[in-house]
This record gives sequence, structure tokens and C-alpha cells, in this order.
Amino acid sequence: MTIGQINTQDWDSEYDVVVVGSGAGAMAGAFSAASRGFKTLLVEKMPLLGGTSSYSGASCWLPATQVQERAGVTDSVDSARAYLQSLLGEAEADRREAFLASAPELVKALEHDPAVEFRWTAFPDYFAGPGRMDAGRSMMPVDLPRSEIGNLAELVRPNIESDQKGESHPDGPLTAGQALIGRLLLAFMNTGNGSVRTETEMTDLLVEDGRVTGISVETAAGPRTLKAGAGVLLGAGGFESNTRMRSENGTPGSADWTMAPRGANTGTAIRRAQAAGAAVELMDEGWWCPGVLQPSGTSAFTLGLRGGLMVSGDGRRFANESLPYDRMGRQMAFAAEERIPSWFVFDSRFGGALPAIMRPDTTSPQEHLAAGTWVQAQTLDELAERTGLPAATLSQTVERFNGFAESGVDEDFHRGEDPYDLFFTDPSHGPNPALVTLDQPPYYAARMVLSDLGTKGGLRTDRDARVLTAGGDPIPGLYAVGNSSASFSGRFYPGPGVPLGTAMVFAYRAVQSMTAG
Ligand code: FAD
Repeated sequence: MTIGQINTQDWDSEYDVVVVGSGAGAMAGAFSAASRGFKTLLVEKMPLLGGTSSYSGASCWLPATQVQERAGVTDSVDSARAYLQSLLGEAEADRREAFLASAPELVKALEHDPAVEFRWTAFPDYFAGPGRMDAGRSMMPVDLPRSEIGNLAELVRPNIESDQKGESHPDGPLTAGQALIGRLLLAFMNTGNGSVRTETEMTDLLVEDGRVTGISVETAAGPRTLKAGAGVLLGAGGFESNTRMRSENGTPGSADWTMAPRGANTGTAIRRAQAAGAAVELMDEGWWCPGVLQPSGTSAFTLGLRGGLMVSGDGRRFANESLPYDRMGRQMAFAAEERIPSWFVFDSRFGGALPAIMRPDTTSPQEHLAAGTWVQAQTLDELAERTGLPAATLSQTVERFNGFAESGVDEDFHRGEDPYDLFFTDPSHGPNPALVTLDQPPYYAARMVLSDLGTKGGLRTDRDARVLTAGGDPIPGLYAVGNSSASFSGRFYPGPGVPLGTAMVFAYRAVQSMTAG
């Protein structure tokens, strides 16, 4: 299908680089290749570009860059190394060092194009430890005025709220994930060496004498074969929307609860690379988050709690509810039978709204109450009856929590002691802004499930994003980034923007490796 100026070039059958997918990693890789003079084609199976990356907040965790320097923020590769080491040990030292070395270069290379501009944004790293930055290491793209992107905006997947309602972008500039994808797309097109095909699904890899030499695609006009002289870069997301792969790999959560665009990321790239001899790892992993169950059976990514508490089926709290979302999700996955679903209990001091950020935030409290995904009651006993929670335990839990709110000390889970816990709270509230008393009826309980921002296991790759066999040998011509690859951050989500930041850095390195031959 031809849309706007993107697909107007005639099809060729030979390129230097073919990129599969159109998230931030794929786009950064396509730009890097085309800006080095490689004739580059990006294929995306959906009609819109950007995948989950376009839904994102577009925080990119990229230490020690010129963006931090411009903002007067002091960071260094050494302190980022100390931080990552404290979480990961030496397990991924090679990829860690590659990431640290190339993050500043990537940002410089991207910002060299007038279409790309970032700004530093304060958001604490997710773990206490050596090298942690309380102000964080994240940057975001500057909002993208419509006048700069023109009609190409219609090709960028809108934000999750608009997209799920079948609407286009809201008025005004493209922001967050749309700005990131829009800016990278503009930069890619600026090179003059790039073309993009939407509704073009990679169905297989072409392998000749052990080298990946291109891909097969399915298009509206039928199948085609595309050659890639220098390499194929897979940036086609994970397998979060594939129920069968999730179940085969013991990946917690559900394809219904993932935050990826419906039907986008079904793991084809991972499976086809496996068939070509690639190894996979971390396949039971995801970028986790608690999700508010929606009447449709999907879920809404929940973060930034300003009040309330969470209990499992036994009516007890089980964690510091203000933990960074991946860590809270892990707490749910850890005892899935009791904690999925959990209940988010809150009172009416927030006007009946959930005291947290939800993405998407399109279902009103009234709709939730009508659908039964939330319940409301005048007393905690009545709330217990409606949720099936044990009444005495629920009351004790709330009473104990209210005591903590009064003293300002959460003796059970230390909520409010970490800078991240306080980031979204009202600093003027009480002795501990993360602990807000629950005593204003009616009370509410929202069903919480384990959601994910994507799966995190995938193809095993090296420091240059080369896809490896089980024996550790690179498969010539094949590269993978983002959720198509297993993350070097393993079972940790170190800070805001690690998924996008690492995807872009390794895409940049993949292209450097292709250039080196
Ligand atoms: P995607 O961005 O999903 O891109 C994959 C693309 O590949 C899709 O468009 C898909 O259609 C296409 N594709 C799949 N298979 C094929 C095929 N066979 N042929 C052709 N195309 C194919 N992360 C951060 O780092 N910072 C944030 O601020 C952040 N905020 C978030 C906020 C929200 C609300 C959500 C939902 C997620 C957020 N994330 C954030 C997570 C992050 O967006 C994802 O982890 C990341 O975008 C995944 O990137 P990806 O390139 O692997 O996949």
C-alpha cells in the first residue's frame, strides 16, 4: 500500500540494509545505515509505524551524553558502569561496556540531523546503589511541531488512548513516543537513502551458505523477496501478543494484558531466526507492570501512585506499592496465584478516581463500576464482601496502613523511603507523601493484573547486536535489537528508558558492525 510520500519509490529487490519493524531501535538503525550511505529499506507489517515505541513516554536511558551536559547534569560512564555493575554483576560485562561506550555517540549522531533533538528529563533510576542518579539519566525527544512532519504524521501510530479508540493524533505537536518515531522517521527520510514499506510483513529469512542475505515478505500484492547485501536488522518487537509462545516459554501475564499494539508483536522474527540457527534466552521475562483490568479484558499500565494500597487475595499488602512498575510487577508474578489479580484499594479523596497514572486512561470510574472491574462500598466490610477479600484482614490492613500514614513510617515495606516512591506524590502531604490515609468513604477496589510493556527475552546477541547460535557464533548478516533480542539488563529494569535507550544504541552498533563488513 502506498501512503503519503513514504512508499512512492518503486520496489527494488536489492538493498544494502533491510530493517524489520519500526520501533525506536529499528528506526535508529535505519537512520544510522542510511546516513552512512547504505541503501536502506524498513518494512513494517502494520499500516502504522512505531509499534509500542510510539505508545511510550519516550524516556531513553542514555548515560553521559551531550543532552545531560546541556542541562548541566553531571553524569559519567564510570558512575553508570558502577550502577549497572551493582545490579548485573559481571554477567553482561561485554554488552554493558559496548552500551556505555556507544550511548553518547548515538545521541551525538542522532542530534547531528536537524530533525532530532532531545531534552533531559528528571526521573530517578529504579534501584538504590552505587552510581545511582536520583535525577536520572533519561532524555526525551522535544515535541515535534506538525509543520515539521507534515503529512508523515499520519503514518505514525497515535498515542495509546487515541489509537485504541481508532482516532488519529490529537491536535497540536506530536509528543513523547510519537515525537520520537516522527523525528527518527524524518531523519531517516532526510538521508535520501531510505525507504519505508508499511503493511509488509517479514515471513522468513533468506539464508545462503550460512549467511543471512535478505528476507521474504508478504504484501497485499503477494509475497516478495528482498536482498540485503550488508545485513538484516530485526527490530520487530517481542512475542508479547503470541499466547502460544508465552505459554511454551512460561512467560507470566497474558497476551490480553500486554501493552503492545493489538496484533503487532507476535514473535515471527524471533521464530524465523531460531529456525536459522539462532539461540534465545530470558524467554520467561518481560518489562513488567501492574495493570488495571479493563472491562474489555485488556489492561492499563499503572504507575506513579499518589495514594491507596494494594492487597492480594488474602487481604494483606505484599510490597511497597510505590516501587518502580517493573519491580511491582515482579512482586505480583512472584506469587501469581495469590497476587493476580490483586486489589488496589483507595478512598474517595481523589474524587473516586484511581490515585495513579493509567495508560490508557479512557475508562471512567463509572464505566469500571458498571462493568464490575472496580467495586465501591460505604464501609471496608462491605468492600470485602464485594471483592471476596477476608473482611477482618482487610480492615486490619487498612488500620495498620493508616497508622503508618500518621507516623510517616511504613514499617512493613518502607514505602516513601526511596526518591522514586516520592516522585509522583504531593510533597505537601503529611509526614510521608507516599502514605495517604484511607478513611473517606466510599471506598473503592480496582482489580489489578500483571501487565507488560513487552517481552524481554529473545534472540541472543553480542556487543554488536549480532545474532548468536547456541555455540556463541554470530550468524553472518543477522542482527537483532529491542524486544526481538534478549535484553542485557537481564532480570532488572535499571532505570526509565532502558528498553528504548538500549534498543537504539545496539541498532547503532549493529550498523557500525555492518559497515566494518
Ligand atoms: P516495538 O516498538 O513494538 O516495534 C516493533 C514493530 O515491529 C511493530 O510496529 C510491529 O508491528 C513490527 N513487526 C513485528 N513483526 C513484524 C514482521 N514480521 N514484519 C514486519 N514488522 C513486524 N520504554 C522506554 O524505554 N521508555 C519509556 O518511556 C516507555 N514508556 C512506555 C509507555 C507505555 C504506555 C508503553 C506501552 C511502553 C513504554 N515503554 C517505554 C516500553 C517500550 O515502548 C517498549 O519496550 C519498546 O517500544 C519496544 O520496542 P521494540 O522496537 O522492541 O518494539
